[in-house]
Amino acid sequence: MLPYLETHFGNPGSVHGFGRAARKAVEDARDQVAALINADSRDIYFTSGGTEADNLAVFGAVAATDKNSPNIVTTAIEHHAVLHPVEQAAKRGLVEARVVPCNAEGRVAVDDALQHVDLRTALVSLMYANNETGVVQPVEDIAAQCLERGVPFHCDAVQCAGKLAIDVARVPVSSLAMSAHKLNGPKGAGALYLRKGTAIEPHLVGGAQERGRRAGTENAAAIAGFGMACELARLELEERANNLSSLRDRLEHGILQAVAGVLVNGSAEHRLPHITNLRFDGVEGESILLGLDVEGIAVSTGSACTAGSLDPSHVLLAMGMSHEAAQGSVRFSLGLGNTAGEIDEVVRILTDLVSRLREVAPLPAGGGPRTAQFRRPT
Ligand code: PLP
Repeated sequence: MLPYLETHFGNPGSVHGFGRAARKAVEDARDQVAALINADSRDIYFTSGGTEADNLAVFGAVAATDKNSPNIVTTAIEHHAVLHPVEQAAKRGLVEARVVPCNAEGRVAVDDALQHVDLRTALVSLMYANNETGVVQPVEDIAAQCLERGVPFHCDAVQCAGKLAIDVARVPVSSLAMSAHKLNGPKGAGALYLRKGTAIEPHLVGGAQERGRRAGTENAAAIAGFGMACELARLELEERANNLSSLRDRLEHGILQAVAGVLVNGSAEHRLPHITNLRFDGVEGESILLGLDVEGIAVSTGSACTAGSLDPSHVLLAMGMSHEAAQGSVRFSLGLGNTAGEIDEVVRILTDLVSRLREVAPLPAGGGPRTAQFRRPT
């Protein structure tokens, strides 16, 4: 990335030499991103990240559809980068939103999704794998069924790209969203794969960048970093996945053995190698998050902290969990560079933390959540 910040700082849209050097970085990255998902480079459109790619797919399909009274079929466990544009489009009266539930394991059933699809469906949108539970969805089956019915199919692959092999030559998605920072690239770059012939209207309009599909000067340095991250992820995909899943298993087994009252949320069979989502009886996830943070360990709860109120994860609620159980859940997400030694340390620190939390806030009579012992610094 550095040469495109320090030396080749031209605008990739400019014709002069500085511009051409930056343009080359963008086009090389396009090839690298395409190679990761076995796509034609000409079908890759750079965006500012996964959110913009999902917004383009949803709003672009709504604007381009020629169906009367169209609907969008999506699922209750999508990221808000998909759910909110769908809700917005419905609020503006542009589409009817049809939201498909998932089962207790966090998986959407093919038949449940398809029963909502009809001649007025402008788009079906299903994520490859969920970002909170890591549960992999039946994307291949639903994409094939959508192709058969002539319905466009969008896939949010933000969490999955670089972790599982994705092959758009085999899986008939119409569009697929990716984000650089989910595969060790920089923040601020992403891409939408758009199969040739997919009807879509641009969401950002202005200049003619990205062949008129996404206006705005490309972030050449971030895109160069995204491209290299995709190349490394492609070359090391299997090795990384094996390493991550063995660390994830070590973490999971370690915690389940050392701490009582812990359950794994989501399917153990269909999941990404790097995520585990655990539910701790009688302890708030937020307390665990803040207690681990003090030790320099980063986890997440999947809940949004707004004005002091903790919203439980919409994904865990969609799986049928109670508010208390959802609020007692923590997502552990592993990355490149994590080691077995670190995993063992996390298990040790967490074991001690959970027992302290349970001691200082004994479970109220009749069950229910304990109060958070750690407060977010203001
Ligand atoms: N989709 C999924 C499944 C995600 O996990 C995320 C980010 O966490 C996004 C979309 C949004 O991507 P970005 O952060 O690049 O905007």
